[in-house]
Amino acid sequence: MINNLKQYEIWFVTGSQHLYGPEALKEVADDSQQIAAALNSNSQIPCTVTFKPIVTTADEIYKVCAEANNAENCAGLIFWMHTFSPAKMWIAGLKALKKPFVHLHTQFNRDIPWDSIDMDYMNLHQSAHGGREFGYICTRMGKNRKVIVGHWKDEKVVAKLDIWMRAACGWHDAQGAKLCRFGDNMRNVAVTEGDKVEAEIKLGYSVNGYGVGDLVEHVSNISDADIDKLIKQYQDDYKIAAGDEKMDNVRKSARIEAGMRSFLEEGNFKAFTTTFEDLHGMDQLPGLAVQRLMADGYGFGAEGDWKTAALVRAMKVMSAGKSGGTSFMEDYTYHLDPAGNKVLGAHMLEVCPSIAADKPSLEVHPLGIGGKEAPARVVFNVGTGAGINATLLDMGNRFRMIVNTVEVVKPNHDLPKLPVARVLWVPKPNLEIAAGAWILGGGAHHTGFSMALTAEHMEDFVDMAGIEYLLIDENTTISQFKNQCRWNDAYFGLGSLR
Ligand code: MN
Repeated sequence: MINNLKQYEIWFVTGSQHLYGPEALKEVADDSQQIAAALNSNSQIPCTVTFKPIVTTADEIYKVCAEANNAENCAGLIFWMHTFSPAKMWIAGLKALKKPFVHLHTQFNRDIPWDSIDMDYMNLHQSAHGGREFGYICTRMGKNRKVIVGHWKDEKVVAKLDIWMRAACGWHDAQGAKLCRFGDNMRNVAVTEGDKVEAEIKLGYSVNGYGVGDLVEHVSNISDADIDKLIKQYQDDYKIAAGDEKMDNVRKSARIEAGMRSFLEEGNFKAFTTTFEDLHGMDQLPGLAVQRLMADGYGFGAEGDWKTAALVRAMKVMSAGKSGGTSFMEDYTYHLDPAGNKVLGAHMLEVCPSIAADKPSLEVHPLGIGGKEAPARVVFNVGTGAGINATLLDMGNRFRMIVNTVEVVKPNHDLPKLPVARVLWVPKPNLEIAAGAWILGGGAHHTGFSMALTAEHMEDFVDMAGIEYLLIDENTTISQFKNQCRWNDAYFGLGSLR
């Protein structure tokens, strides 16, 4: 479980030069130390902010970038130009730098000291033009980065740093991550397929398949005592709505959970997929097991959907410690009442209880597909509020992410016969435009759903990955969205020719 991002460091690096003399440089160092310390102790900042000695030459800049590349816990860097820092000095460092960075365009003093300002003051507090020089070289070199403008004590600036740091942690976590597929894809499904080699090159995680028999071996090694322990845990965590006659099915679910967990821990996996078309030797489609593993921070995608599994994992890391929850999701059924179009999101079983509004109910019901025993699952509703759906697609020549902002609403009525966890939302700007744009953009039926994250988290993440990003929100129109898709086709088409 990832509930704390303090294990990740963000390096605070201040650019300057020797033109101003040692006294000015000492002041630059003091000021930047003070900002780094203030950010580090700010409870809104999720990571450890580490002050690095100010950089004043091309060698120093290269060195800190190379060190960041090799520092295992460094998830990214904050660059700040206290003074002018001639940007030819930054070329070698930026060329070498492989970690994400944010350009904090701030100034030590918030206000102009009207009465006392002189040329010494002006020469020391030069972010206004130093930041522009730095921006030029980043743009000229095609470096993706976030630019945050404002005073470093401003809550809005801190909030943006929080968002960016969370995205950097999600990105950092994905580098070298291992994703396990139990079985292959659901047959004939297109959108869940993709180029796993390209994903490893572009997104950093490695996807490999494992025979279900290997999992079954772990499942059958689980002892009755371990199952008893889990059943006790279920009694604490859930309302047990499965009758005594169903407890055998619940015990089998517990066995599957313990077996899966042992397999995933042994292989050091961060995300996984299942498929109901390959369950040889399993009694049930894993439902409760998947729900509980997701709640513990594992990424998950059903029917072999490894892209969504990796996406859910990244979103789980990004939302660590935040309220709201994050889950694998599917647009399932519509409510097409002209008085208020809505989407009912759910899946056959696998919705993460981190988004539950209240104590979930543990139930056992038969499943129409898969031809296995009735699986256990937890059933719950989700609280109201803002959320997002995100999808990752393989477009053939690039990965595309589409994000849609949504408002989660209360169901119009109880759903007493629906045996799965469910969420009801109104997509922005409305269902007509949101679903229209989503479909024109090729968005999947599977998503990563979160009420802890915003579209900005996803956009920052996408910038780190250097992949395509399409946002559907309150400002989206279909014509504008179609144009964006066309322009992006041209942009990424040109990119592949470079
Ligand atoms: Mn599905």
